[in-house]
Amino acid sequence: MNRVALVTGASRGIGRAVAVELAREGWAVCVNYLEHREAAESLVRQLRDSGHMAIAVGADVADRQAVEAMVQAVKAELGPVDLLVNNAGISRQGLFQDTDDETWDRTLAVNLTGARNTAKAVLPHMLSEKRGCIINISSIWGLRGASCEVAYACSKAAIIGFTRSLALELAPSGIRVNCVAPGCIETDMVRALGEETRAMLVEETPLGRLGTPEDIAHAVAFLASERAAFLTGQVLTADGGFIV
Ligand code: NAP
Repeated sequence: MNRVALVTGASRGIGRAVAVELAREGWAVCVNYLEHREAAESLVRQLRDSGHMAIAVGADVADRQAVEAMVQAVKAELGPVDLLVNNAGISRQGLFQDTDDETWDRTLAVNLTGARNTAKAVLPHMLSEKRGCIINISSIWGLRGASCEVAYACSKAAIIGFTRSLALELAPSGIRVNCVAPGCIETDMVRALGEETRAMLVEETPLGRLGTPEDIAHAVAFLASERAAFLTGQVLTADGGFIV
C-alpha cells in the first residue's frame, strides 16, 4: 500500500526539495503548484524516472473547492493522503501603512487559510484511519516579527497557533501536527529581496550561510518519519542559529 504525501507549493524552492526528499524516503508524492506547471511536471518526470510514484496537481490552496478537487485527484491516482506538508506561501514587502487590502487578504488567504483548506480536505481519511501527519511551514519571522512584512509575519505566527491547536485536538485520533520554522533559505523568495539584503541575512546567521531547501526538507522528512513518533505540536526552528 502506498504511503501518500501531498506537498503544497512544490514546483520550486523548499516545497520542491521536500517532495524530492519524501520520494527518496518511499512516499508517493503529489507535487502541487499554482503557476509553474511545467516545473512541477518536470519534477514529476524526474521522480518517476528514478522509480518513484508522483503526480502533479495544480490548485490554488486559497480556493477551498480547488483544494477538495486536488485531494480527490490524489486519492484516485495515488491513494488517500497520509502526510500533508503545508508549504505553499507568498511574501510581499512594504510598510504596514502602504499594505493594501488585497495584499493583506491574499497573504492570509494563501499562508493561513490555505493550510486550513488542505487540512480540512485530508482529515476525513486520517480521522477514519486514526493516523496521519501534518507538517506546516512557518518562518522565523512568525516567531520574531518582521518589519515591512507585517501580513507575512502575522500569517506565519498564526501557522504556529494553528499547529499547536490542531495538534492538541487531533492527538487523541493518532494524528501528529508539527511545524518547521525556516530561517533564511536560498530560494526565489529570498532572492527577490536583492543582493544587499541577502548579504545582510548571511551576516546575521550564526552558521554563516543561508540555508538550502534541502536543509528544510531534511527537517520535514524527520518530522514525517517514525523517528518523530512522539513529537506533536512542536515548532522545529531550522535557521542556522538565527534565533537562539
Ligand atoms: P518560493 O520559492 O517563492 O516558492 C513558493 C511555492 O509556493 C511555489 O511552488 C509556488 O507555486 C507555491 N505557491 C504560491 N502560492 C500558491 C498558492 N496560492 N497555491 C499553491 N501553491 C502556491 O518560496 P520558498 O522560499 O520555497 O518558500 C516555501 C515556504 O517556506 C513558504 O511558506 C515560505 O513562507 C516559507 N519560508 C521560506 C523562507 C525562505 O527564506 N525562503 C523562510 C521561512 C519560511 P508556483 O511557482 O507554481 O506558483
